[in-house]
Amino acid sequence: MQASISIPNELTTLARLFADAGFPLYAVGGMVRNALLGLPVHDMDITSAMRMEDVRTLCAAHGIGCTEKGAFFGTLDLALGAWRFEYAAFRAERYGAGGAHRPEGVRFTQSLEEDAFRRDFTVNALYYDILSGQIVDPTGGFADLSARAIRATSPDPGVILSDDGLRILRMARFAAELGFSVEGRTLAAARANVAGVRDISAERLREELDKILLSDIRYGLGSGRVLAGLYLLREAGALEALLPEVAAGRGIAQRAEYHAHDVEEHMLRACACAKPTRTARLAALLHDVGKPVMVRETGRMLGHDAAGAELAAGILRRLKYPNAVQEEVVALVRCHMYDLNGNAKETTLRRRFALWGAAFTLALADLREADVHGSGRIAGEVKSAARWRAVLARMQQEGAPLSAEELRCTGSDIMAWLGIPASPRVGEIKRALLLHCACHPRDNVPERLKKIAKDIGGSRG
Ligand code: ATP
Ligand code: MG
Repeated sequence: MQASISIPNELTTLARLFADAGFPLYAVGGMVRNALLGLPVHDMDITSAMRMEDVRTLCAAHGIGCTEKGAFFGTLDLALGAWRFEYAAFRAERYGAGGAHRPEGVRFTQSLEEDAFRRDFTVNALYYDILSGQIVDPTGGFADLSARAIRATSPDPGVILSDDGLRILRMARFAAELGFSVEGRTLAAARANVAGVRDISAERLREELDKILLSDIRYGLGSGRVLAGLYLLREAGALEALLPEVAAGRGIAQRAEYHAHDVEEHMLRACACAKPTRTARLAALLHDVGKPVMVRETGRMLGHDAAGAELAAGILRRLKYPNAVQEEVVALVRCHMYDLNGNAKETTLRRRFALWGAAFTLALADLREADVHGSGRIAGEVKSAARWRAVLARMQQEGAPLSAEELRCTGSDIMAWLGIPASPRVGEIKRALLLHCACHPRDNVPERLKKIAKDIGGSRG
């Protein structure tokens, strides 16, 4: 089959060098799959029967940058002009028991077919001969592209999905990103081999989870894709392996007037309703993880925000999220019940927002919206979130300080004004000034602050 895929000139040049040495050079993976689907290409994977050491020699002879990547898998990063190509010679991999994602042995092969059947899914095993424009399709990937289906390369999908547990997450991820369904036997094999997910490193799990959480914006297919990806994880049994705390919400009913769904379903839906950023999606996905625990321990959901924050901290640590992500998500989970009904007094909100800062306040308003929309009972405007945004906007318009840094005095000013040494008292007064100015923005000028600081200092000190 012939196709026309746009190829950088540098890659054509490289393909000629390979051809001179007797090897057709192929593009493979996302580069071919996406090109045929009319989707953008993120990275360029290339392959041929030429052995890794011969590629290194060829690159050295022609001044092509060539660095090794991944100790065990052995791929080569080739640099031509501004382009980077990831080269992996045709290979067959042998896996041990468990789904550890680390082949016990790599055997290089001259056979493109063999290489195709060590790949995960048929749509990822389409080869484009760079010079001839021929598509080579040993596993039926082209038909699956048309059918919009994720199918394991092997006629026995169990082989593919037991060798490497990460593939179960990749299955859900590709289906979510591309808007594909998963072929029935492939999904059944994922379910049968889901134990392999537990053998995968936290970093790799996290990477795939992140991609599922943001699958709607990869190719712009809409947030329904996030829910589809999460459902696939659940159908495969991988949600229990990856996020047992979320799966623990299954079957836990909630008050019907507010909720159409059980706790698990609600968290998945809230996640899909959240803004497309990693922290927003994670916070929504985890916001109610405290509920199953509280229900089990106390028979009620009261206190699930604090309990959930603890659990979320453990989950994010386990998945090795960066500290800043852990901190923000945990804080969002901890605060997600604040002013649930939107009845807090404006002064109360102003003080709270000054302590939280604008970014966190907005993130929490977004989470509130996702939470409510994910309940399946209310669409459209969410009263408390809308009111918070309005109050915050008013504060910003009035120049109210939304952090201690925005207060127009420093700790040294306070010490000089009150004639006190550096001590926790200085911080307390600064905080009191911040809370005051949140409600009285015009007082945020040095001479007013001095007077108020003296009042506070005099009354308490
Ligand atoms: P993306 O657009 O996300 O980069 P991709 O298909 O290029 O998608 P990569 O992770 O870059 O995905 O991998 C390139 C190719 O290598 C895949 O298309 C697949 O053929 C193969 N591959 C990658 N990881 C695995 C795996 N864990 N098991 C089997 N094959 C894999
Ligand atoms: Mg790729």
